[in-house]
Amino acid sequence: MMGAMSRALIFDLDRTLVDIQSFTDYGSARRDAEAIIGTQSEIAVPATDWSADTQAAMGLLVACSGNPLWQRVSDAIERYEMAAIPSSAPMPGLAEAWAACREVPRAVVTLVPESVARAALDWHGIDTGDLIVIGRRADQRPKPAADGLIAVCEQLGIDPRHAVMIGDSSWDLGAAEAAGTDFIGVPTRPENLPPGTRTAVNLEAAVAAALA
Ligand SMILES: [Mg+2]
Repeated sequence: MMGAMSRALIFDLDRTLVDIQSFTDYGSARRDAEAIIGTQSEIAVPATDWSADTQAAMGLLVACSGNPLWQRVSDAIERYEMAAIPSSAPMPGLAEAWAACREVPRAVVTLVPESVARAALDWHGIDTGDLIVIGRRADQRPKPAADGLIAVCEQLGIDPRHAVMIGDSSWDLGAAEAAGTDFIGVPTRPENLPPGTRTAVNLEAAVAAALA
């Protein structure tokens, strides 16, 4: 019998713990990134309600995965993400949800760089000193690939089947399915996740459900 102690929680960052996207100038980020790598069309990535520029910027990073220019493209986008942190917003119930799982192994896997994720969490009072954070990086396929979740589970020494991904988007759901973890959605709008996806009304409810 596996009890709560054997579970691990893996969180998405953007719009799950902190809303950065709404305050990030992804239009300029996309322009700067396309100046480096060129425009890309027909990139197969999950549908979202993100702005067209956000979707394009994240798609560019997927499209140039493995390209020597990847780091430059990422850095160009990171500049705008980092600039958004002072105006970013914690998702409702962040402090309470985070406190509720303080005894549980937990980590963050995100499409923003680790530096941005740590800075955003620190900005909103979440101590990331001992927290495993896997952000986008040149040597790892981003969500919806399983790489980040698999890496986290290895670091935590836990079977992915005993981990729960909590995220707001279909990119998170795709990664969870690919890695074999459970998934609980916290979509900002119900239609952001496919019908039948397990969801919670908010972050606190998702954490409670994951630990139940
Ligand atoms: Mg998100």
